[in-house]
Amino acid sequence: MHYDIHYECQRCTACCRWPGTVALTDADTAAIAAHLGMDERTFIQRHTRIRPDRRGLSLLEKEDHSCEFLGGNDCAIQPVKPEQCRRFPNHWHFPGWREKCHAVPTLHKDPQPPT
Ligand code: SF4
Repeated sequence: MHYDIHYECQRCTACCRWPGTVALTDADTAAIAAHLGMDERTFIQRHTRIRPDRRGLSLLEKEDHSCEFLGGNDCAIQPVKPEQCRRFPNHWHFPGWREKCHAVPTLHKDPQPPT
């Protein structure tokens, strides 16, 4: 039996406060715009900017570099938050994330051994 470590998010919001981009897929843009009750063009104009690598859009951030949609410790778009947010920290993370993020490591049985 193979075991995988999976980090369970504790909603500490460390990733939401980390300076950097929150990249949006086309599906993210459509879902968030619908959730906010606005058309995609209006959402893009009001809540996004071009990423520094110019490969797509990022959510806007506040002066302290936290995400625009973070209010206290709550994400205002939690049900439709971007893929990048959902995949942290198991699929990507930033340097020094273990010192900031409170996600709890858990062992998962994986019947498929790594190939
Ligand atoms: S969209 Fe939500 S989960 Fe993602 S960085 Fe912003 S506040 Fe955090």
